[in-house]
Order: sequence, then structure tokens, then C-alpha cells
Amino acid sequence: MPVQGLSNVMGVLATAPATPLLPDSRGYFGSFGGAYVPEILRPNLQQLDQAFAAARSDPEFWAEYMRELALFSGRPTPVTPLPRLSQHLGGAQLYLKREDLGQTGAHKVNNAIGQALIARRLGKRRLIAETGAGQHGIATATIAARFGMEAVVYMGAEDVERQRPNVFWMEQMGTKVVAVEAGARTLKDAINEALRDWATRHEDTHYLLGTACGPHPFPALVAWLQSVAGTEARAQMLALTGRLPSRVYACVGGGSNALGIYQGFLGDPQVQLIGVEAGGRGPASGEHAARIAGGQGTRGIAQGYETLFLQTSEGQMVDTYSVAAGLDYVGVSPIIAHLHQQGKLAIERASDSEVVAAVKLLMRFEGVIPALESAHAVAGAIRAAAQLAPTEQVLINLSGRGDKDIFTMASALGDDSWASFLRHKADAMMAAKTSAEVHHV
Ligand SMILES: *Cc1c(COP(=O)(O)O)cnc(C)c1O
Repeated sequence: MPVQGLSNVMGVLATAPATPLLPDSRGYFGSFGGAYVPEILRPNLQQLDQAFAAARSDPEFWAEYMRELALFSGRPTPVTPLPRLSQHLGGAQLYLKREDLGQTGAHKVNNAIGQALIARRLGKRRLIAETGAGQHGIATATIAARFGMEAVVYMGAEDVERQRPNVFWMEQMGTKVVAVEAGARTLKDAINEALRDWATRHEDTHYLLGTACGPHPFPALVAWLQSVAGTEARAQMLALTGRLPSRVYACVGGGSNALGIYQGFLGDPQVQLIGVEAGGRGPASGEHAARIAGGQGTRGIAQGYETLFLQTSEGQMVDTYSVAAGLDYVGVSPIIAHLHQQGKLAIERASDSEVVAAVKLLMRFEGVIPALESAHAVAGAIRAAAQLAPTEQVLINLSGRGDKDIFTMASALGDDSWASFLRHKADAMMAAKTSAEVHHV
């Protein structure tokens, strides 16, 4: 391929921001959203809303954001055609938008960089964040280290135990990880603890929320920062193929990577937007995180905003489950709920077993190891591909890479040599520790 053609398909940075998705004066997108927080947190949200408005009207902010994304996170990320997998499935041509190639291996770093820039403009020197699986904690820890800011990450004590590798790296980068012992010791307890911290230390602290959820202005702010993926992907699809895709797939946890890619195509009514939720062990099992697909989520107000939650008829949040820790969340972005209600977005689900099968196919045919979260989008696209004509193009947002899932995948694939490797590692570490102690004495 000539060099000139190469620079075309690589695409350029999203030098201009997407038109922001903004709520009404009450922070509502249609009938979802709002800001339900204790009085003491109002000034924090107001200050952030003003800073967000200032950033939107200042081209210098977006230029600084693009520069940091390029220099620290390797943007633009490519769009990769999947010719072998497409041929195997015998239908549409599949393409990946490679958010897995960014710093820390997922889209979450885009939001972390953007919010850290806003925090710096506000003169804040301390970042706090909630994290469930630990991926958002890692993204926050990297940018705090790079900007020389203090960082505290709240994580349910249960999650601290389950996600040891992420806790290790956060601490190595200088972030303090606080294990939250309250409640069920998971994500929602971590969110409550982060909000409590923010209420008491507003002067020097920014709450870096990880997805397009929570009280206004977080959903709009996070969606705006993530729009880089969609703006790039649209230009890249045109440069690479001369056409737009007929469908765009993304997995939906909180909704941030999905809103990021969709924003490139909201002005193209011929492009079908599809979200894939965590179907877990199936609709009847109760072990899933599908709030919209299947209609099990019901309207409620919690964690600072109104949306569709998985809850009992008494309004108690239920325990969600997914093989992908990053999709395991009871609520969903108010912007996603609104776009779905308006008929602009279809929502499906993929089960754990479909997702593991999709990971295998993508690895074997294309040499790409997707995150289990992202593999939900891949599974949705695989399901559709065979029914579509070979002239159709399907774009999949690959929100992250799968290295982090080695423990889960090795057990899902029943790899016995992995279990014995872990046992040997543990034995060797214990032996080294014991001999060091002996030596010391
Ligand atoms: C956290 C995470 C998600 C889910 O979050 P969204 O806000 O829905 O994007 C999806 N993919 C990966 C790789 C993640 O780390």
C-alpha cells in the first residue's frame, strides 16, 4: 500500500469534538438522568458543570486533550478489518475499532485523561475514584502518576480480594487503594464511600467517575470525552472502505464505550446502533446484568440519578453477575436508556458461553485477544454476521484487551496446566519468602 494511502486509513485524531449530548436544565435526557445528591454535594456538581461548559467552549481544552491522548495513549487507534473471521462466518465484513490499544489497554483511559485535565484546570491536586473490577482504578492511577497528583481509589473489600493484580499495579503507581467494608463490599459501596470523601474534601479533590452514569454532569461529560472513538472510527471506515458500516456494535456496562463509538454515527440514520448487555447464565437464572434487553430493569432513583435498575419490586438493588467484571453493574447510563426509548438504539444480550466462544474465534482467526467485556459486542456481531450480505460492513468497538482475563479464561476453557502453573508459582513464592526470612535471622 502506498504511504499516502496508509496515512489515510490510519485516520487522524478527532481534532474537533463531537457535538455534545446535553441534558435539559434538570440534567435529564428525556425521562432519565438528573442529579439526586445530598445538599452538601451540590456545589461540587455545580463547579464541575461550569468547568465542563468552559471546556466545551474553549478549543484549547480539546487541543490539549488530543495532544495528551496522542502522546500518552497512542491515539488514533486503528480500525482493523477481520477478513479471515468474516470469511469463516460467511456473511458481513467485520471491523474492529481498537480501543484495546490505548494506554492501560482499554477505553477507560480516555475519560481519565480528560477529567484529570479538567481537575488540573480547577486547581485540584487530588483525584478520587470508585472501581469494581479495577480497570477504572488503574486508568486513574496512571494519569495521577503522570500528572503528579495524589490518588485514592475506593474499592469494595470483596473486589479487592478478587482483583489482586489490579490492586498491585495501582499501589505500585502510588495510588492508595481503600478497601470498603460497608454493605455488600462491592462497587455500589465504593461509590458511596467516594461520594462521602468528595463531600468532605471539595477544595482540593476531584471525583473522577468512571462511566457515563451517576448524577449530572457526569453522564454528559464522560460521553463527550469518549466521543473520540466514534469520530475517529467514522473517518477511518470511510478512508478504508469508502462507505459507512451498516451496523455498529458495542458492549454496555455503564455505557461509556458504547456512547463513545455511537457518537460518530448518530447523524447517520442508515447506521444501526446495537448495544450488547451481559446475559450471564441466561434470563431465567437471575444471574446476569441485562437491564434493558429482556425488559427486566425498572425505573428507579439510586446512586445519584434516575435510570433503569435491576431491582426488586420493593426497590432493593439485586446482585448482578457477568463473566465480565466490567459489565457487572445494576444501573445503566441515562443516555443509553434515553436513546433506546427513542428507538435510536437496539439492545441485545450475550450469554457467558457465547462470549467465551467469541473470544476463541477472534483469537484463532485474527490473533486478537479481546477483553471479556468487549467480547459481548463481538458475540452480537458474530450472531448477526451470517444473516447479512457480504457487501455489508459491521463495526465492533473493541473496548479493551483480554490479558487481564487470563484467570477467568483459563478456567472457562478448562486449562489444567494453568492451575498447576499457579500452584507452582505460589509454592515458589512461599519458599523464597521463607528462605529470605531464614537468611535474615
Ligand atoms: C469497564 C469496561 C467496560 C464497561 O464500561 P462501559 O462504561 O460500559 O464502557 C467495557 N469494556 C471494558 C474493556 C472495560 O474495562
